[in-house]
Amino acid sequence: MSDGANPLDSFEQQVENAAAYLDVTPGEIERLKQPERVLSANLSVEMDDGSLELFDAYRSQHNGERGPHKGGVRYHPGVTRDEVVALSGWMSVKCAAVGLPYGGGKGGIRLDPGEYSATELERITRSYAVEMRPLIGPDQDIPAPDVNTGQREMNWIKDTYETLENTTAPGTVTGKAIQSGGSEGRVVATGRSVMLSSRELFDHLGRDISEATVAVQGYGNAGSVAARLLDDAGATVVAVSDSAGAIHSPGGLDPDTVGEHKAETGQVTGFPEAEQLTDEALLTLDVDLLVPAALGNAIDAGLASDLRADTVVEAANGPLTPAADTVLNEREIPVVPDILANAGGVTVSYFEWVQNRQRFSWSLSRVDEELERLIVEGFEAMVAAERSQETPDYRTALYTVAMERLLDAAGESGVWP
Ligand code: NAD
Repeated sequence: MSDGANPLDSFEQQVENAAAYLDVTPGEIERLKQPERVLSANLSVEMDDGSLELFDAYRSQHNGERGPHKGGVRYHPGVTRDEVVALSGWMSVKCAAVGLPYGGGKGGIRLDPGEYSATELERITRSYAVEMRPLIGPDQDIPAPDVNTGQREMNWIKDTYETLENTTAPGTVTGKAIQSGGSEGRVVATGRSVMLSSRELFDHLGRDISEATVAVQGYGNAGSVAARLLDDAGATVVAVSDSAGAIHSPGGLDPDTVGEHKAETGQVTGFPEAEQLTDEALLTLDVDLLVPAALGNAIDAGLASDLRADTVVEAANGPLTPAADTVLNEREIPVVPDILANAGGVTVSYFEWVQNRQRFSWSLSRVDEELERLIVEGFEAMVAAERSQETPDYRTALYTVAMERLLDAAGESGVWP
């Protein structure tokens, strides 16, 4: 499916595409492409059987001009330095695009977590927290869950940091359970920003989201919540998929019942009264809205040529390769980019960190209201930039907004020494 784009090449290309619409120097462009620093470590960890194993681990801090670095930590056999750097760059752009006072960060450990026991994963995670201690902290760099990590790993990182620093600092990480300082509304935040971005796009196009048919690739946290909230907004979810396959029902699927079926059987396929599809067939269905919510590089140029959706809203990070972006742009299919559509996750992480610092919890309605405000403002800034800069697509437009904010912050600080 994918043309195997290196994520760092994709990120650099996106920065260059937007730079063409800005008055920037080659040095400034280079500064936006490169991370400020990357810490790599070989974690040596004792396994349950007493043997020693080494793990490649990274933390990249991309750009801290607007505030502390912020970004997830992923556990995956495919983790590379380039991938972590690209993901940290996307976090800088995403935080600036929605106006959060954060820079970009990202971390990763190259491993398949399915091959290790919970006690081994705890030792690996605590070793990571010790090695990354020079970088992390509530005022320096704040990790969060990402692929294959969650509340459990965040609590291990927080506990290691607090023990080493002899303090209590819940704002060391975000994505925590409510009982350990998490925020209301965090679990559904990414799906909510996908729904809000879709609603704003349809409004902007003079269409009504309540009349839209929707296909969602990936029925995990982001995709299943987006499906449920789009259904609540009146849209008809006609197809969804996960790694085992896709299901389709032209009359509409009930996202909650599909979720129950997946919770019981581990997959969406086999759902009664729906036909089975391949994932590729789902991506090329004739729908009003396609929401890729699974993996990066899911849609390459070939698939983009076959796409029949009217619009695309990116729930996943980087689901379109740059070549696919070009094809959709030529075909005038609007794409709301990941840096806005899935920014709900980092936005409510920011609210969690603010609450931790205030030592005061917000209500769910306050979280939802503030999230809606920031996503709608981000959408409006993107559309305004597309008009004023005459950029070819929304992604380039929002990159110009974010890059200007990053460069303004850098300009205010000056260069030292
Ligand atoms: P998840 O692990 O909960 O869900 C991923 C889903 O994708 C699973 O249902 C999996 O079966 C499915 N999938 C995997 N390969 C597939 C394939 N080839 N075809 C169809 N489905 C496939 O992960 P998530 O948290 O929902 O994240 C999904 C995407 O959204 C990732 O790109 C992630 O980086 C991005 N994202 C998530 C958040 C968040 O808060 N959860 C925030 C920002 C971005």
